[in-house]
Amino acid sequence: MKIDPISKCFVAAACALLLTAISVRADGLWKAGTAKAVITPTEKMWLAGFSNRTNPATGEKLMDLWVKGLALEDASGHRAVILTADLLGIPQNVYQHVRTAIGKKFALQPDQILLCASHTHCGPVLRDALYDIYPLDQSQRNLIEKYTTQLESHMIEVVGAAIADLAPARITSGQGTTAFAVNRRNNLEPKVPDMIAAGDLKGPVDHSVPVLAVYTPDGKLKSVLFGYACHNTTLQLSEWSGDYAGFAQLALEKNHPGAQAMFFMGCGGDQNALPRHEIYLSQRYGHMLASAVEEVLVAPPHNLPPELITKMKTITLPFGTPLTVNELQTLKNDSQPPTRRWATRWLEFLQSGKTPAHDYSFPLQAWEFGGQQLLLTLGGEPVVDYANKFKQSFGAQTWVAGYCNDVMTYIPSLRVLLEDAVTKPGARWGYEGSYCFVVYGLPAKRWGENVEDLITSGAKELVGEIKK
Ligand SMILES: [Zn+2]
Repeated sequence: MKIDPISKCFVAAACALLLTAISVRADGLWKAGTAKAVITPTEKMWLAGFSNRTNPATGEKLMDLWVKGLALEDASGHRAVILTADLLGIPQNVYQHVRTAIGKKFALQPDQILLCASHTHCGPVLRDALYDIYPLDQSQRNLIEKYTTQLESHMIEVVGAAIADLAPARITSGQGTTAFAVNRRNNLEPKVPDMIAAGDLKGPVDHSVPVLAVYTPDGKLKSVLFGYACHNTTLQLSEWSGDYAGFAQLALEKNHPGAQAMFFMGCGGDQNALPRHEIYLSQRYGHMLASAVEEVLVAPPHNLPPELITKMKTITLPFGTPLTVNELQTLKNDSQPPTRRWATRWLEFLQSGKTPAHDYSFPLQAWEFGGQQLLLTLGGEPVVDYANKFKQSFGAQTWVAGYCNDVMTYIPSLRVLLEDAVTKPGARWGYEGSYCFVVYGLPAKRWGENVEDLITSGAKELVGEIKK
């Protein structure tokens, strides 16, 4: 067969392209894609979090709320997608709808999909989440339903756009630190400024700042995924806001034009940024976090080979002692409106002859990047003991994220659960291990005492599967 010069050029170019493609993979490149969508509500809905709110949102915004997607593909073609969102939490119904749709549309299994909420309390109430803590009328419930359906569509579209954007990339990992998180159980808020001045803060914390950086092959920052274990609740505004995590993302995106900054919460269930309740403080914490990320970005890069392992497990966590009619009859006259609404609802449920759930399907997930960087994720609002425990078990570099996939309530360690079993006068204790069940509307007053053991053994099994 004769090949004319033009065809020869074409064949040579095609071969060169093929060789480039092969060498790209052999050179240790991943594929990565990003996309994002604004999810700031356009209606005056109730804001999620803080049960002492008395009014819905003003409709104004301090900054936009976002859902952001990062799609990754390793050298073998194995894919995963991470969605981060400026929301209090992803309720189970939203997680299931989005996970199912993404799974069908993009051929992804549940272990390949990770949804993270920033836990801002200046975002909207979502479907079937925290309904007992607000006086929601039918019109507000309709707004919530409409918004949540739109949110689900945005999440699915962002995943599709991130996958469509997949292109060769280099990925690095690192870990920085910043110290604004304070253990809120061990340091009463009004006393914190004096305790900080005296260097006298108490209680466990996790000040690490995990950083996953995605670069184009020519070295431009395409995306940075970072985390911190601290409640994203410095602001109790009636305006929409991503709080300190929103400020951190804005600062990083300003410093790196074109890059997409994405935040995930660590095990910050018992951690607060203190002092707080001022916009300048929220901004300051955001900039402290962004600076910690920048320090990692300027350090010698730790390249991750393009190998990705994704595992997931759903474990059954039993609730503690079931509610009784007598107890609920007392609590329906409680001084706190959220308790009254919660007790009335479950009392009617029991009196109608129905049996409430006595356990919960709890999501655990583990990803390993490049055969070395472990990311372990938990649902709910885990307290910091989980991060510290898993770092001891699986290595100090382990990243532990909470508020992932399904935020159903707080996740106390056994220590916190037992501390909260009895209310102690003068202490802040009682919330993370107990009252949070009322706030989240669950049919019990706390988890069973095996909560930490079950999560620990589930995590060990998952990590064991990765290390096989
Ligand atoms: Zn919280």
